[in-house]
This record gives sequence, C-alpha cells and structure tokens, in this order.
Amino acid sequence: MEHTIMNNSEIINNLIDSRSQKLWQEINAHFTVSIEQTKDGNYGCFTLDEEAIIYIDFQNLCKDSFAHELLHAQMSMNGCYINGCLKIYMADSPVLSVLLKTELGDHIGNVLQHIRFYDLYLELGFDKTKFTIDYNAHKCTEAELSSLEFLYQNLSYSCLDTHLGKLFAVLCDPNPDLDYSSAKVKLRKLDPELYRISSNLVEQWKQTEIDNYRPAVTEFIGKLEKWVKRKQRYSVWVHKLVFDIRRLLN
Ligand SMILES: [Zn+2]
Repeated sequence: MEHTIMNNSEIINNLIDSRSQKLWQEINAHFTVSIEQTKDGNYGCFTLDEEAIIYIDFQNLCKDSFAHELLHAQMSMNGCYINGCLKIYMADSPVLSVLLKTELGDHIGNVLQHIRFYDLYLELGFDKTKFTIDYNAHKCTEAELSSLEFLYQNLSYSCLDTHLGKLFAVLCDPNPDLDYSSAKVKLRKLDPELYRISSNLVEQWKQTEIDNYRPAVTEFIGKLEKWVKRKQRYSVWVHKLVFDIRRLLN
C-alpha cells in the first residue's frame, strides 16, 4: 500500500523534535515538501527545483534517518547537485556510459555529501549509529577485496562500476571507528591510477564550497575516460571476451 501524505502533523510530530525543528522549517521555507512511503525500505530524498520528496518507512519512523534526509535536502537548497552532475556527465560520456550504471552516480554523490554533513548531524545531537543503515559495517571486507581483485584481474576496466563503488565507499566512510588502512593499501596496489583519480575527487570536494563541485567532477570524469582508453588499448581482447560473454548471458 502506498501512502502520500503532505505535512501530516501526526507523522511530522514523530519525525521532528527540538533537534531538527529549525532544519525542518528551513527546508519547508524553501521547498514544497511531500513525504512518501519508500519502495526499497530505505529513507531517501529527491529534490527538483522547489519540490522535495522525502521517502520514509511509515512502519519504522526514525527521527535520525529523517534528519539525515533533511541534511541532503539542505545540500540541494544550498546549490549542491553533485549526484545529478555525476549522473549526467557519466551518461553523456560515450566511454563511461557503457561501463557505469546510473545508480553509481547516486552512490558516489551520496557518500560525498555525507562527508560534508556528518559533523553537523552529530552537532544537532543525532545518533551516529543511525547515520546510515550500514554505519557499523566495514565497507570493504577481505572477502569483498578478494572478489574485486578477481574481477579486476579477469575483466580489467570492465568492472569499473564495482571498482569505483568500493573505492568511494572506503574513501568516504565517515565512521572513524572503522579501520581502512589495510583495504586502502590493497586498493591502491590493485590500480594506483584509479585510486589516485578517486581520492583526488574526494580531496578536492572536501576543500571546495558545496555549490562549486563542477570543476572537480569535470576533472574526475576526464581522467576516468583517459584511464579507460589507456586500458582499452592494451586489452581489446578482454573487451571482446566480455562482450561475447554478456551476449551469451542475455
Ligand atoms: Zn545519505
């Protein structure tokens, strides 16, 4: 069953308290906000122009998760559309569009945004363990690393989507209690150039104004394209093999 509730006071009272009141008012002053039942079980936020939809689980109301989504909306309000920018640049690139899924742009954009509002979330007094559903989970276990290494050795640049997904999950994890030192060493060793391209985006993003993400994203996309082209030159046969396998599987 799908609910669509706009500013339903009973629901709102269960999602907002003194910690998020000001933020909620700020978001409402800027956007026409609607609250909808999530389809995938996860809280989420979608904004377009002056409209914001916040996806929640009506069976599992959580003030912390709601505040997290309000902070995403606040990023949009302040001019940060890094998810959309990544998705458009990836889709517009003839080289990258065949290798990367649309969801990757959202994943990278989301984890990059998290870096910028994690401290604010804590300052407002919310529970760090509820910052994300997988807050305490290590984002790159030994098993995941081995599987990525296997993919990379066999598919080279063709597993770029998975490779970047892992790199950004590791480079942007806000949980200071998780140790990524060994994972970072291994990821860097697996492909030093791709590691550098990814960490450059993260470092540039940390230092720029949140509405000035385009130069860093443009540079990231350009370097990724060059990386793929370089790999393609040396492994045309791999590309052909993957193409044949995909055709057989479809
Ligand atoms: Zn988020």
